Amino acid sequence: MGIPKWTIKGIVDDFDECGCCGRRGLKRTVALMPLDADGNEDGTAEDVVYYGTSCAATALGRTQGKVTDTARAAQAERDAYARRIISIYAPVEFAHVRDKARVYYRRNQHQRDTGVKATEVVAKLLAEARATLADTTTGPARPSRIEDFRRYLVILTSDRRIHLVRRVPRDEAKRQEQDTAAQRRADEIRGSVLVVAALDAEAAREVAHADDLTREWNTRAWQAAHVGSHTT
Ligand SMILES: [Zn+2]
Repeated sequence: MGIPKWTIKGIVDDFDECGCCGRRGLKRTVALMPLDADGNEDGTAEDVVYYGTSCAATALGRTQGKVTDTARAAQAERDAYARRIISIYAPVEFAHVRDKARVYYRRNQHQRDTGVKATEVVAKLLAEARATLADTTTGPARPSRIEDFRRYLVILTSDRRIHLVRRVPRDEAKRQEQDTAAQRRADEIRGSVLVVAALDAEAAREVAHADDLTREWNTRAWQAAHVGSHTT
């Protein structure tokens, strides 16, 4: 078979014509990015082609069902990863180099003292994550700014595993109600309550598991983005 020529970027509803055989009126098409001889993505958004699932399956040497599942999963996973990266690192983007390095190396201990520069890596990770969520080849752009963060209440068990994650309500009375209930629950299980800001619940789990410094910057960034704003 050799090295595959394509990688699946996602599945889209807004292109109904197969770029391979020209068939029209398709319910969905698969976005494919060409790969170079070494299997690296070889192109930009403009090089992405949209094939019907049948032609995509032939091009990839897989079944149609497998192609559709892979396409959906690939996109969901890439977006989720991008949201985690932004939720962790966007708040420290403009922090002092020392804090940024601490946040990065605590998550990537094995890279400590290897010459990997935390500031450069963080900038690169953020740029890639933003590009992923801004990528409109497979649908509209997804929220990616700190202003898009939402608050999540997280109850941790005594051994710091996640017991529960809930979106914090906007309504002040409901928020207090949630907080009271969470404190009570945390007392029952001898756990603790955290409030973190993130792009989604999955990313909120990641922030909750992070170290104190990461969470400190997370809180600070959310407050800075929402100070004086009562609409959110
Ligand atoms: Zn086709």
